Amino acid sequence: MVRFDTFKTIIHEISAIVGEEDLSIHDSVCHTYSFDTSLHSGKAIGVARPESVEEICDILKIANKYRIPIIPRGFGTGNRGGAIPYNALVLDMLKFNSFSIDSKNLKLEAGAGALFSNIRKSLNSKNVFLPPEPDFDVCSIGGFVATAKSGRRTIKYGNIKDYVLGLDVVLPNGKFVELGSKNFKHSGFDVKDLFVGSEGSLGVITKAYFKILPKPKDFAVIMVNVENLKMGVELSIEILNEMLPTSIDYLDEFCSKALNMKGKLIAIELDSYTNVDREVEKIEELAKDYGNVEVHKGKKAEKFYVSLKSLNVRLKNFFKGFPVVEDFELPIVTIPFVCEEIKEVLEKNEIKHAFYCHLDSGVIHPIMFFEKESVRKYEMLLNDLCSIVKQHRGYIAGEYGIGIVKSKFLDINSLEIMKHIKKLLDPNNIMNPGKMGL
Ligand SMILES: Cc1cc2nc3c(=O)[nH]c(=O)nc-3n(C[C@H](O)[C@H](O)[C@H](O)COP(=O)(O)OP(=O)(O)OC[C@H]3O[C@@H](n4cnc5c(N)ncnc54)[C@H](O)[C@@H]3O)c2cc1C
Repeated sequence: MVRFDTFKTIIHEISAIVGEEDLSIHDSVCHTYSFDTSLHSGKAIGVARPESVEEICDILKIANKYRIPIIPRGFGTGNRGGAIPYNALVLDMLKFNSFSIDSKNLKLEAGAGALFSNIRKSLNSKNVFLPPEPDFDVCSIGGFVATAKSGRRTIKYGNIKDYVLGLDVVLPNGKFVELGSKNFKHSGFDVKDLFVGSEGSLGVITKAYFKILPKPKDFAVIMVNVENLKMGVELSIEILNEMLPTSIDYLDEFCSKALNMKGKLIAIELDSYTNVDREVEKIEELAKDYGNVEVHKGKKAEKFYVSLKSLNVRLKNFFKGFPVVEDFELPIVTIPFVCEEIKEVLEKNEIKHAFYCHLDSGVIHPIMFFEKESVRKYEMLLNDLCSIVKQHRGYIAGEYGIGIVKSKFLDINSLEIMKHIKKLLDPNNIMNPGKMGL
């Protein structure tokens, strides 16, 4: 805890950098920045809103001088507690919100605070796209890269790590560096990769450079009503042995009802630079023995994926409480029985839940509903769920990051290497201390 007189000096020095109007220490503002979308909360000692790289460099130098923890923050929509401050100064990055699209060279350059959904709309209007797209796109580019997000489309297009060409970063000692070649290929060590998924623990990302792709010309979604998840997985495996779909998602009866549909559903997404007709035909043939098949193209297909973005909110119509979503990653064949084991644990503990899964990439999202104050109950349950996942050679965090929620489940050997890297770059441990086990 910082002493009161030191705190006053720090505030004075930081306010001289960003200006009084861009430094808040008022309780109500600090309170707003003390949460993300996890069940956890902390305490911010202040919130600074820098608008230039130079300001961030100066703030980090002061943070080192007085050993104040710094938490870079985008929109605070992370669900692993990564952006939660514990007696720390929050760096609100939302002023770094400009972006530019170079569709001739298939490149996108975006400030850390740019809103992903705005970028998506602009890319769309230029007939290009950034394939890894989270289901929930109210997130900043900094948060997107720092949590190594992905969502649907991973099997065909990879995740965000495959699209970051370069990063501008302020290191913990206040030095500004430009990492990566900003071009499509790069020989030798590519240090920028260390920062993708680093959750604010190694420095502040100020700008990111991405590869983008031309938008496919044809698009369809095929809905198959299946009796159970096991049949859904069997059908997915048959499809994946024949072709590369864009995504395959499973929605249980609660998720499909939330989206105004019925029963357990498999949604197979296809896209192509020519047309998807042959793949659609093949899937219709494969799926006919599994259940009712419907093919949607154009606006109807798009509408389904737009509604999927608000799945958690819509589920609140059926379940009371605060939704907590897991992101376990598994070998696809294990999904039905792992989900069954997870279901048993949840039912035993009387936790209302639904299941949504990305069957193509093996990510399962149990969506569980808790009272806001049940952090302890959730943590105990999480121990059980993570051990089930690990027993079946799964990974505990496929999409949403580690933060404070998942840090104790990390592999100790990888963690030891990360601790060495952290010590080298951030010897005073000012950057997001305590997150990711660091
Ligand atoms: C309903 C819902 C659905 C979701 N669906 C998906 C999904 O499908 N796929 C998926 O991958 N995620 C998903 N998420 C998770 C969430 O959207 C992401 O974690 C998101 O990337 C966070 O972005 P943000 O700007 O809100 O970051 P924040 O929450 O503000 O920060 C997240 C982490 O990034 C760090 N950080 C932020 N900005 C910077 C920066 N400039 N430099 C360095 N570090 C930084 C923070 O310190 C923190 O550790 C979902 C979340 C919700 C609530």
